[in-house]
Amino acid sequence: MAHVHKLYEYDYEKGTIRLKNRICPRCRSIMAHHLKPVERWHCGKCGYTEFVTARTTRRIRGKKT
Ligand SMILES: [Zn+2]
Repeated sequence: MAHVHKLYEYDYEKGTIRLKNRICPRCRSIMAHHLKPVERWHCGKCGYTEFVTARTTRRIRGKKT
């Protein structure tokens, strides 16, 4: 699946849609915001995911498969 720069991300599996809000710190692409199952920011380009919690922000490095 090709990646293109978009002003928003729409994940029909998760049912989330979000306008651009955050830039990936790794590759500077626009990250998508998801609320389910947990609130997080996800970069569809490099796979960077930043989880958002009430207390802290946990970062996990991931690879797109
Ligand atoms: Zn990225």
